[in-house]
Amino acid sequence: MIRASQIHKRFGHNEVLKGVSLEMAKGEVIAMIGPSGSGKSTFLRCLNHLETIDAGRIEIEGELLADTDAAGHCRYAPEAEVRRICRKTGMVFQHFNLFPHMTVLQNIIEAPITVKGMTRDVIIPRAEALLAKVGLSAKRDAYPGRLSGGQKQRVAIARALAMEPDIMLFDEPTSALDPELTGEVLRTMRELADEHMTMLVVTHEMGFAREVASRVIFMDQGLIVEARPSAEFFASPEHPRARAFLDNML
Ligand code: ADP
Ligand code: MG
Repeated sequence: MIRASQIHKRFGHNEVLKGVSLEMAKGEVIAMIGPSGSGKSTFLRCLNHLETIDAGRIEIEGELLADTDAAGHCRYAPEAEVRRICRKTGMVFQHFNLFPHMTVLQNIIEAPITVKGMTRDVIIPRAEALLAKVGLSAKRDAYPGRLSGGQKQRVAIARALAMEPDIMLFDEPTSALDPELTGEVLRTMRELADEHMTMLVVTHEMGFAREVASRVIFMDQGLIVEARPSAEFFASPEHPRARAFLDNML
């Protein structure tokens, strides 16, 4: 579903990704963990072109998003192709990013209508089904300002799913939530995983990583320093930094 190889990304003189490679199979759930500033968000953002890479190669479902030639020139697919390929991935952010002036339903149907050209009679029932799925049918016509953080995040998940992505990228979806609200969001994500959605999840929720993810990827200072089946990783992390990180978290 995703094949990223040797991704490099710098902001000015700060090399944030120093050759990150990742392959993800259909239906896989990967938890990406690591200290703050290690490049997790940047990597996720590169996968759906919220950031451009400086070097490396990204394939999404076998389609080339970006590639780098022997001379080191990185080239992206033509713009329309890039847009189409990036629609295969849906993204959920730490801070929800809902449109505050739109109701919950409007938030969900906006992109399917404007980006995919879906008609209201097709997308509204689908949006209502997604709201039922995340347990928020009653909030259909509410504005985001009236929702709890956990409810907002579940709307954000429904909104991403409304675009029918094949891969979901989550960037610390529960980090902005009060502890008592993380459970409802993790439950929604767990249900998605049970339905075999392909998911790449940046998270500090070690319980989720251990129980739901099949693989854990530990990032440190712009590199993946450990990538293993989650049971193995949690039983005995190999890299000293991963060990220190886990000691701090658990
Ligand atoms: P993480 O998600 O693992 O905490 P990030 O990918 O957010 O790490 O950040 C990695 C590094 O890149 C940090 O040093 C951060 O300051 C820097 N960085 C991220 N985004 C930008 C940006 N838009 N401009 C400049 N520096 C950035
Ligand atoms: Mg981050």
